[in-house]
Amino acid sequence: MERDTSHPQDPAIVWFRNDLRIQDNEALVAAAQHSSVVPVYIRQASGAARALGGARQWWLHHSLESLSRGLGKLGTPLILLSGDPADLIPELARTIGASAVYWNRRYDPAFQAADSALKSELQAQNLVAESFAGQLLHEPTRLRTGSGTFYKVYSPFWRALEPGVENRQPLDAPESLTPYANLSDLSGEALDSWGLLPEKPDWSGGLADAWTPGETGAHERLSDFIEDRMQGYGDRRDIPGVDATSGLSPHLANGEITPAQIFEALKNTDNDAAPADRTKFRKEVGWREFAWHLLVNNPALPEKNHNSKFDDFPWADDSRSLISWKKGRTGYPVVDAGMRQLWQTGWMHNRVRMIVASFLTKHLLIDWRTGENWFWDTLVDADPASNAASWQWVAGSGADAAPYFRIFNPVLQGEKFDAEGDYIRRFVPELAQMPNNFIHKPWAAPEQVLAAAGVRLGDTYPHPIVDHKLARDRALAAYQQIKEAA
Ligand code: FAD
Repeated sequence: MERDTSHPQDPAIVWFRNDLRIQDNEALVAAAQHSSVVPVYIRQASGAARALGGARQWWLHHSLESLSRGLGKLGTPLILLSGDPADLIPELARTIGASAVYWNRRYDPAFQAADSALKSELQAQNLVAESFAGQLLHEPTRLRTGSGTFYKVYSPFWRALEPGVENRQPLDAPESLTPYANLSDLSGEALDSWGLLPEKPDWSGGLADAWTPGETGAHERLSDFIEDRMQGYGDRRDIPGVDATSGLSPHLANGEITPAQIFEALKNTDNDAAPADRTKFRKEVGWREFAWHLLVNNPALPEKNHNSKFDDFPWADDSRSLISWKKGRTGYPVVDAGMRQLWQTGWMHNRVRMIVASFLTKHLLIDWRTGENWFWDTLVDADPASNAASWQWVAGSGADAAPYFRIFNPVLQGEKFDAEGDYIRRFVPELAQMPNNFIHKPWAAPEQVLAAAGVRLGDTYPHPIVDHKLARDRALAAYQQIKEAA
C-alpha cells in the first residue's frame, strides 16, 4: 500500500502496544514505507491505567519474544524501553531523526487522553503521527441508536454492526523491514530484566501447557478451530468438558490476531460446517465488539455499576468465603472446577465463568468488582471491556444484564452442561470416582457411595459453604431492598 508520508526517506517509529503481531498491522505497513523502521514496545508505569495482572504479564513476556523473533526475521529488532511514552517517543524520534510515528489504536479509555496528547505533541513538532484501526471491527464511538445514544442492548447493536464488519480487508505483513543504520545508538532493555514471569513460586506451568502465546500460536488455533472444532459450535460451545470453542480470547486480548483476520478466514474456508455454527461464532466475536462499545462510551464500566440502583446493594464483606471461591473449595463441584481451571490454565470456559460469577455475586453476595479483580489477575485473556461488561451482566447491574433474580443453581447447571461429569473429573480429581448422579452434589450421596468413591466430605472435599436455597432467598431479599429503595 502506498502511503502519503511527507518524508519517507527518513526513518519511522512503529510503537507496538496491544497489537503484538506482524500481519494485518497497518501501523507497521505504514512504517515499512520509510527508509528504515524502529519498532518499539514501552513498558509503562501503570499511572492512570490498570497494571496488567499476573497471567497477562506471563503472556506478554512470551508474546514479546515471539514478536521480536518475527520482526528480526523481517530485518529489524524490537527495541524495549520503560517509562512514559510522552517522553520516550519524542526522544527516540529525535535520536533517529524520524519523520513519522505510527501506532494502532488501543481504545482503552485509560490511555486515550495520553495517546491524543502525544499525537498532538508530535504533530506540533512537524512529525507525521498517525494511528490506525485493527483491534476491533468497528470504531466504538461511531454506532449510534436512533435516539443518538450508544447501544445498551446487544441484538440491535449487532444488527447495526454486522453489515459492515467485512469492510476492512486484513493486510499482509511487510515483506521486509530496513533496520535503522545506527542501531548501536539505541539502548534497548532486555526482556528478562522486566520480571514479567512469576518466580517464587512459578505458577505458570499449567499456562505453558495450555497455550502458545504469539502470532503463530494464534493462527494455528484459528485454523484448528475452523477445520476441526467449528462443526457443532452452536450446541457444543456450552459444554465445558469438551474443547469446542476457539480459545482465541488471549490472542485477541494481546492483539496477536485481529477480528478482521478471523472473519476473513471464516469467509474463505471450504469447511462447510453448518452455516448456523459459523453465524453463531461470528456473533460471539460480536460480543467482544459490544463490550468495547460499552466501555468506550462508559469509561467507568470496570468500577461503577452501569445501573446506579445497584450502588446501594448490601454487598457482604466475607473474606473466608472469598478465599474458598478463589481456591475452588466452595463444595459446589462445578464452581470449584471452574476456579481451578482458571488457576491452572489462566482461562475458564464461558458457561462456567457465568456460573462462578453468579455464585460469587448471588450465593455469596460478594461485590462483582472483587470477582472482576480476581479474573483480571488470573485470566490470560483479561480484557478491560469484556471482563467488566460480563461481570456487570451476570451481577445484574450492567447494560442488557441478566436480571438479578435469575440465580444459577450450580447443581442444575452442572447436571445440564456436564452431564457425565467430565469437566469435574478433570479439574476436581478428588471427585473423579463419583458416579454421574452424585458428582454435582456429593453431599446428597449415601455414605457407601462416597466411601466407594474415596470421598470424605469435610476432609478430601469440602461441604458446601452455603446452602443453595438459603443463599437464593438471601440474595432475593437483598435485591428486594434496592428495588424498594429505588
Ligand atoms: P469462543 O466461544 O471461541 O468465542 C470467540 C471469541 O468471541 C472469543 O475469543 C471472544 O473474543 C469473543 N467472545 C465470546 N464470548 C464472549 C462474551 N460473552 N463476551 C465478550 N466476548 C466474547 N472474555 C475476554 O476476552 N476477556 C475477559 O476478561 C472476559 N471476562 C469474562 C468474565 C465473565 C464473568 C464472563 C461471564 C465472561 C467473560 N469473558 C471474557 C467472555 C468469554 O467468557 C470469553 O471471551 C470466552 O470464554 C473466550 O473463550 P473462546 O475464545 O474459546 O471463545
